[in-house]
Amino acid sequence: MAERSVEFLLIGGGLAAGNCSRWLREEGADGSILLVGRETDLPYNRPPCSKGYLRGEETREDTLFRPADWFGEQEIEVLTRTSVQSLDVEDRAAKLSNGDVVSFDKALVATGAGVRRLNVPGSELEGIHYLRTLGNSDRIREDVSGKRVVLIGGSYIASEVAASLTELGSSCTMVMQEALTLSRGFGKQAGQFFQSRLQEHGVTVFGDDELDRLEGADGQVMRVVTKQGRELEADAVVFGVGAVPDVNLARAAGLELGELGGVKADSRLQTAVPGIFVAGDVAEYESVVHGGRRMRIEHWDVAFNHGKTAALNMLGRDQPHDVVPYFFSDLADWASLEYVGPASDWDDEVVRGSLDQGEFSVWYLKDGRVAAALSVGRSDDLETARRLIAEGTDVSQKRDQLADLSSDLESL
Ligand SMILES: Cc1cc2nc3c(=O)[nH]c(=O)nc-3n(C[C@H](O)[C@H](O)[C@H](O)COP(=O)(O)OP(=O)(O)OC[C@H]3O[C@@H](n4cnc5c(N)ncnc54)[C@H](O)[C@@H]3O)c2cc1C
Repeated sequence: MAERSVEFLLIGGGLAAGNCSRWLREEGADGSILLVGRETDLPYNRPPCSKGYLRGEETREDTLFRPADWFGEQEIEVLTRTSVQSLDVEDRAAKLSNGDVVSFDKALVATGAGVRRLNVPGSELEGIHYLRTLGNSDRIREDVSGKRVVLIGGSYIASEVAASLTELGSSCTMVMQEALTLSRGFGKQAGQFFQSRLQEHGVTVFGDDELDRLEGADGQVMRVVTKQGRELEADAVVFGVGAVPDVNLARAAGLELGELGGVKADSRLQTAVPGIFVAGDVAEYESVVHGGRRMRIEHWDVAFNHGKTAALNMLGRDQPHDVVPYFFSDLADWASLEYVGPASDWDDEVVRGSLDQGEFSVWYLKDGRVAAALSVGRSDDLETARRLIAEGTDVSQKRDQLADLSSDLESL
């Protein structure tokens, strides 16, 4: 067992921790930085796991946040395949799975999220996949290309994987609780648009249904049986039913958890323990652009920007996290969406542009104010949406202007 001491300990080898290490150095930190992650890879971007990397169009190196040399040049020490097993926030020390005990001045908890698992009869069969890591993506590509695949879930992971695997020659069927794909986050109009795109490319979609059980022979999955009584032949099943923040370490360390399941932090991403910060999927923070409402958001862009805000505050800059969250998703090259928000509920939707022509934005209003906006081919609209969300502008009398393509959004 070695005892050592660092200035900054970044826990979790994902994007939030990676970007935090970068901004610590960019903003002049000259103390020692140790980034500890339990995966085999250096910090990488997860979005390609269901998109270009899954389809074999991007390499493992392409997905990296930064190449290995960069961490060396920046004098950022990275330990992969290493877990932080316990964290003593009072004594400022962490125990690692390699036996080291590391004392630190400031720490970032960026332990991310893990997949939500469904425990139904047949869950133990071979041919069942979940997707979170590059390794999961490898196994899905090896196992399912060209086969009959049933996807459980109607959100972006299941939709993206259905599109990617269809491109790889698989025959894909989706089973989901919601009536239309992606409609939980983006409403029925956008949901119908995305579902039509999937169906036009040969994906079969069964909405308003649910997985009942998985059946197989000789230990291999062969059939998906739904609550509505559908029996779907399957060589493989991929689940995309959500993620759960990984709060194991934080909980054991006594850090306070919030109602949304994450680790509670203020608008500076600092926990109640001074010097201990959180970022990314695991962070439940007070969002100044949402009127101080507590948010926990699983978006690539949020993890990225949290990393920066946390770094600035670890350096004592007193910087609120004031970035409007942004999300993107691609269904192969069939459709791409971008979104700012997020809105958990809304009471009005305004469409600007043409759903039929596949170039539109949808504005989600709550009590007359923009809560979120989605764009397909109209990225510029999101600039205005970001501003209106942050300013909380009342647009209830401006619905026509929002919908009218000839009107100037910037004047809103
Ligand atoms: C397949 C897939 C596709 C996605 N596509 C999109 C997309 O298109 N657009 C979008 O906006 N978002 C997308 N996301 C979400 C986005 O990738 C996440 O929001 C982002 O990766 C979160 O980063 P993070 O650093 O907070 O956590 P993570 O990326 O989960 O990293 C946390 C890391 O910490 C490690 N860890 C946990 N506990 C410990 C410990 N005790 N010790 C050491 N290490 C530990 C974990 O193993 C993990 O490697 C996608 C996610 C997935 C899985």
